[in-house]
Amino acid sequence: MKNAVIAEMFDRMADVLELKGEISFKVNAYRRASRAIQNLEEDIETIWNEERLHQIPGIGTGLAKKIDEYLRTDHMSKYDEIVQSVPPELVDLLHIQNLGPKTLAVAYQKLHVENLEDLKKVLENGSLAQLPNMGEKKIENIRKGIALREKGRERISLGIALPLVERLIHELRKIPHVGRIYPAGSVRRMCETVGDIDILVEAEESERVIDTFGSFSEITRMISRGKTKSSVLIEGDLQVDLRVIPRDSFGAALQYFTGSKAHNVRLRRIAKKQGCQINEYGIFRGEKKIGGAKEEDIYEALGMQWIPPELREDRGEIDLAMESRLPDLVELYDINGDFHVHTRWSDGSASIEKMAEKAAALGYHFIGICDHSQSAGYANGLTPERILEQIREIERLNTQNNDICILAGTEVDILADGRLDYSDDLLARLNIVIAAVHSGFKKRVTERMIAAARNPHVTILAHPTGRLLFQREGYIVDLEQVIRACVDTGTALEINCNEERLDLNDRHIRFAKEQGAKLAIGTDAHHPHQMDYLRLGLGMARRGCCEKKDVLNCLSVNTLRSH
Ligand SMILES: [Zn+2]
Ligand SMILES: [Zn+2]
Repeated sequence: MKNAVIAEMFDRMADVLELKGEISFKVNAYRRASRAIQNLEEDIETIWNEERLHQIPGIGTGLAKKIDEYLRTDHMSKYDEIVQSVPPELVDLLHIQNLGPKTLAVAYQKLHVENLEDLKKVLENGSLAQLPNMGEKKIENIRKGIALREKGRERISLGIALPLVERLIHELRKIPHVGRIYPAGSVRRMCETVGDIDILVEAEESERVIDTFGSFSEITRMISRGKTKSSVLIEGDLQVDLRVIPRDSFGAALQYFTGSKAHNVRLRRIAKKQGCQINEYGIFRGEKKIGGAKEEDIYEALGMQWIPPELREDRGEIDLAMESRLPDLVELYDINGDFHVHTRWSDGSASIEKMAEKAAALGYHFIGICDHSQSAGYANGLTPERILEQIREIERLNTQNNDICILAGTEVDILADGRLDYSDDLLARLNIVIAAVHSGFKKRVTERMIAAARNPHVTILAHPTGRLLFQREGYIVDLEQVIRACVDTGTALEINCNEERLDLNDRHIRFAKEQGAKLAIGTDAHHPHQMDYLRLGLGMARRGCCEKKDVLNCLSVNTLRSH
């Protein structure tokens, strides 16, 4: 499918035009088109073949011509023209938080800033600060943005890494005579960001596995290739290390390469005290190997419970395992539904039926339809009339279909003045109300969120910190106070599964749980396939020590309805 490529091209054209200070309707037209194409369920080539390009919202004659040119010739002359009109690295700078296109445009035009090095230089020598409208605060914020970006560049979001890993594992499974296959490292621990990817394959004959792996089409470069280990780059610059391990030491290797480092250091120290030694080949007492085929061998030999990978961070899990007091972490099969999905009624790409079908296919019992509220104009938010109409539509669908219970909900904006975007009378008619800050990130966010939590109709606070991985630090909010208000009022805090959000994160979840708060996992899916991302939120919940009782998604439909 060329959908993603074309969407990306339009987005980039918008970036460049913005940088050159072009009129905003042109920029917006490209952005809208990019989004519409990204959200398509069909292959754009099919649409093109059937001459239906003009039916895509936001695609007029001019844009349709550009798509047509690209699909015919693999080139878009307007794209080349626009993108080549500025230095290539300049556009990347737009992704730095706090550095808007206007500032960057001036820096480019007046100070000839063309890349990150140039930008750092003009920050250092003070010439950026001398431009009009550049206060000290703004300069400081740009510095912070650069630091955030540089920190992020070496890692990627778990939401990007996990599907890649699963694709590779799917291919590896087809090789004859392989046994267990696991990701190790931060992917297995479900860390929110991932550096390198480690994959372990159980096989006695390593060469065939290494050879086949080397032929995968995903690989962009081979870094090194040995008898039992191969390192490659995939998707540009993501490093994957594949190790082939024989059966009798697979468990020990899996334990060793899963980490974390801190967890393993602690474990080795305990082993030593008990007269044992652990390494990637097994657990040994003196010369004698006492285990290593299974990961459980290692923990059992040390007299403790097997520790789920998500907990292996040396945050107290080893002591709990020694006392057989590990939490009984929530599992995927405990999950009865998804609270937060969007449909075509606002900015989603599928109908209510399609989202419900997907939920049923996932084995859920309920799905929460939570489209945007009226003030979210950018996302086609629902007026009170339209949401009432949507409630009627959901009632109609529920009487037709017994497979799944569709909950009528909303993702209602918490407005800048602290009020919610719908009246209490209207909110009272919904099964779930998710309240969300989408604007005014610096305006008394704590008070606004607490007020929302206190509203008796609000079920869940959406993405409670507002952070975006590698891009945005989040609202200025006193999360402790907000969590306390949620505990008082019985309002749940969301674990938003969007790959860029993962909000709350593991530490916040653990803190919230310890305070007695309830958590609600929501995928925030705008497309049926995004509902698969629930496992990201589940990973965060498990890292935050959540058990079934802590997570609202594990409730039955009847309990939820009476909530
Ligand atoms: Zn939201
Ligand atoms: Zn949402």
